[in-house]
Amino acid sequence: MQAGVLPPLLHPAVQQLVHEDGHLLQALVREHGSPLNIVFPHILRANAAALAAVLQAHALPSALFYGAKVNKSPALVRAAADQGIGVDASSLYELRDALRAGTPGRAIVATGPVKPRAFHDALIEAQALISVDSLDELAALQQAAQAHAGPPVRVLLRLRPQEAAASRFGMGADDVRQAFTQLTLARQRMRLEGLHFHLSGYAAEPRARAIAEAIGLVAHARGLGLAPRMIDIGGGLPIRYVDADVYERYLQAQDGSHYRNGRVPESFYPYGGRLDPCAWLRTLLAAPCVDARTVADCVRDADCTLALEPGRSLVDQAAITVFQVHATKPLARRHVVFVQGSSFSACETWFASEFLVDPLLLCAAPPAAQAIDAYIAGHSCLDDDVITNRWIGFPTVPQHGDLLVYANTAGYQMDLLENEFHRHPMPARLAAVPGPDGRLGFEPDKPVE
Ligand SMILES: *Cc1c(COP(=O)(O)O)cnc(C)c1O
Repeated sequence: MQAGVLPPLLHPAVQQLVHEDGHLLQALVREHGSPLNIVFPHILRANAAALAAVLQAHALPSALFYGAKVNKSPALVRAAADQGIGVDASSLYELRDALRAGTPGRAIVATGPVKPRAFHDALIEAQALISVDSLDELAALQQAAQAHAGPPVRVLLRLRPQEAAASRFGMGADDVRQAFTQLTLARQRMRLEGLHFHLSGYAAEPRARAIAEAIGLVAHARGLGLAPRMIDIGGGLPIRYVDADVYERYLQAQDGSHYRNGRVPESFYPYGGRLDPCAWLRTLLAAPCVDARTVADCVRDADCTLALEPGRSLVDQAAITVFQVHATKPLARRHVVFVQGSSFSACETWFASEFLVDPLLLCAAPPAAQAIDAYIAGHSCLDDDVITNRWIGFPTVPQHGDLLVYANTAGYQMDLLENEFHRHPMPARLAAVPGPDGRLGFEPDKPVE
């Protein structure tokens, strides 16, 4: 096991599996192929419980919806259902997964700018909350609503906060007010339940300002006789992949020589942030909102439920991706490690960035120490299609059959891009489930039939 310059922070269950049960990982990869994705549903449950505890400590009525697009694992969606939290579904397929996982329809919120009629119909059937992205969508939803019997359709309006004036998502305040008027006229078939937004970036302050804007609009809607009770602030809670000091030192020290293509990427995810999701949420709740009162006080005083749609932060530490080393090849400068797998797993080079977390090398046989720097490539025959451009330091030359373990890949890393390039089959996915004795058992991670 090498120390590396950017060692991953590891959950104890992951630590145990990687450091003490390395032979177990070897056996699993032999059986299921490489790369192998392993998800840890119980970690999602613990993450959800921790966020809920923060909200409870502030005596805030709250709702959590798992942002299910972050990972394709059905076991993780089931974990959200088992924990009693909702799901944010942005396609008919995510909706079906959530329902199949046992999430009650009323605990599902639908987001996203493109909702075909079939998606609207299924959401209305399920009595899900529907976040309406535009006046056009409101008109389309109203039409769909006419075709259904049953209780009024539950509507959130997606606000495009002043913070995000250039965004393609949501409606500016003027359109939101116009939607209010429309909803007062459509009261038989539609019910306004609240406002919604989701901002890119990870700062708390812009979210506090957007909450203030939403609170103002809630008051306006109530003046029209509507009864919105929810402010849904989306996701974007940052997570920590590596130690903050280690990360800062790396960022300060790095230059083009750290990358095989000689270029430092322009931007990175904040892999070494100082706040975990719970600390971040406490910061947000304490941030000044309306008239310098805190977010928590303002939302409580507005008699609203604060809803969150965490994706990445709920799956923090909830998966690893394991590659088998095929060979290490010396090059004119340094080395390349070839693995069984591709840049569609655990990789940011497709976003002109880099996953700034070291893979952990698990050696199959006792290594002869010879430190090398290498970049990592998969089975792609395209020159620039690599898993890292960054030179990774290894204390020994990775050998055929060794494993490279990427920790904390559940949040978009694991399977967002995976496909069957070169006609390779999709990577296998297992769920690691603690048994009564605390030891992990492994089962195929598939939807229940
Ligand atoms: C993607 C998305 C989320 C989840 O974002 P994370 O950064 O993964 O927490 C939540 N809400 C909406 C509307 C989204 O599009």
